[in-house]
Amino acid sequence: MERISHFIAGKVVPGQSGRHGDVFNPATGERTHEVDFASNEEVDRAVDAARAAARPWAETSLAKRAEIMFRVRQILDAHRADIARAVTLQHGKVLSDAMGEVARGLENVDYACGIPNLLAGRYAERASTGVDVYSVRQPLGVVAGITPFNFPTMVPLWMCASAIACGNAFVLKPSEKDPLASMLIAELFAEAGVPDGVFNVVHGDKVAVDALLEHPDVQAVSFVGSTPIARYIYEEAAKRGKRVQALGGAKNHMVVLPDADVEMAADAAVSAAYGSAGERCMAVSVVVPVGRIAEPLVQAIAERLPKLRIGSGIDAESEMGPLVTGQHRDKVASYVDSARAQGAKVVVDGREHPLYGEDGFFLGASLIDNVTSEMDCYRDEIFGPVLSVVRTGTYDEAMALVNSSPWGNGAAIFTRDGGAARRFQEEVEAGMVGVNVPIPVPVGYFSFGGWKASLFGDTHIYGPESINFYTRAKVVTERWPDPATSTVDLGFPQNR
Ligand code: NAD
Repeated sequence: MERISHFIAGKVVPGQSGRHGDVFNPATGERTHEVDFASNEEVDRAVDAARAAARPWAETSLAKRAEIMFRVRQILDAHRADIARAVTLQHGKVLSDAMGEVARGLENVDYACGIPNLLAGRYAERASTGVDVYSVRQPLGVVAGITPFNFPTMVPLWMCASAIACGNAFVLKPSEKDPLASMLIAELFAEAGVPDGVFNVVHGDKVAVDALLEHPDVQAVSFVGSTPIARYIYEEAAKRGKRVQALGGAKNHMVVLPDADVEMAADAAVSAAYGSAGERCMAVSVVVPVGRIAEPLVQAIAERLPKLRIGSGIDAESEMGPLVTGQHRDKVASYVDSARAQGAKVVVDGREHPLYGEDGFFLGASLIDNVTSEMDCYRDEIFGPVLSVVRTGTYDEAMALVNSSPWGNGAAIFTRDGGAARRFQEEVEAGMVGVNVPIPVPVGYFSFGGWKASLFGDTHIYGPESINFYTRAKVVTERWPDPATSTVDLGFPQNR
């Protein structure tokens, strides 16, 4: 049994707590690794290493930091296939999808390579007579990231690229379900010249997370995961005065207006609902056809499902892999039963796929029609290959449904009507909107984040908002007076 241990101060450090988790290959169901679970003391050790590294790293010139980020970019690029393979072996998503994840993660490193420009402040010469004002942004010190299982490479890169480029030292607590990829990334950052202690990884569960939340030297916490844990992280970090951004779960709607191209909308719905076996926070989990397009759309989606190639992610032919664990697969499948019991029409039941019940954690694609907003399959985030269809009569009805959701991560509209699309973009209560684009994950030089229960905190993640999140602002008001003009003046300073 291979063991995955912590990465502290540039070295792999075997865990001492005596606690560990099991990691599986979802395609075979085999237990392949044990991952060490950190104790409070082990988290302290990682934070100590980060604190010791933070000051010299913050004092490293922007030129040098940018040079190192360019090298990180080069080295990650050269190891794309290795990272993707680690993702596939522990998460289960197919290799092409894992390569896509690595590419989207690399965008964040691309962005961080521009750090000298991103950190450049503003300067106002002669704000008052003889007085100049300028602003700078300085790193926070030690910052932590806690990440979910579904993007074991991309989400850590959402955080660490900007956090480190800004001059902080970073402690990552990756998902215990697929921790291998984050170890690879930390080692590659070190190989690129990121000094020891600037990027540390501690593995574990709630114990490790709580230790990071409680540690007085951790200045900021970035979290991505389910909504209940996001809310917990936000409250725990905020009450200790830490900076926090906690991205939660989602239920993303795809509204299809009657004028949309049915075949294009069906292709988009199938790609966005079943890619990565539905284990994406931006997956489309609800299709909302308006009016007469419902019948042909449901039919066109159903026709595509038997053609999906489901199998081991390592197999180049596969388009959809297994789910991450057997337990998760069973929970996802249970929504098909509850939907049927609550009166929905199960058009396709993923359990009829021949791989369901085999050794791997496979489940075919399910399609459920005539879903209403009271049903469990609509109300819960299923996070698997189950697509619900809620039929509506009008645009207003569709919009009311989307906006009554407690979540507001992504939302998409499919239409040929520019005016309708513009109205949707204005009215929808979601942080990321797609117009004829089903998964509108912003590019790396914009920021990512939802509304409502999809994000707790004030700033979105990666891109421009991450630079603000990972730094503190300082404004300097400066005068170099000519001693000949100096006088005593007890009045309140005014601009002259
Ligand atoms: P999760 O909330 O179970 O776990 C996320 C992290 O929190 C993991 O590192 C885990 O170890 C830790 N954790 C779990 N239970 C904890 C507890 N009780 N106390 C403290 N820490 C705890 O999420 P997951 O199942 O790994 O990932 C899937 C979820 O993440 C989905 O809800 C998905 O929508 C969400 N997600 C959101 C985004 C986004 O950008 N909004 C992106 C990816 C995933």
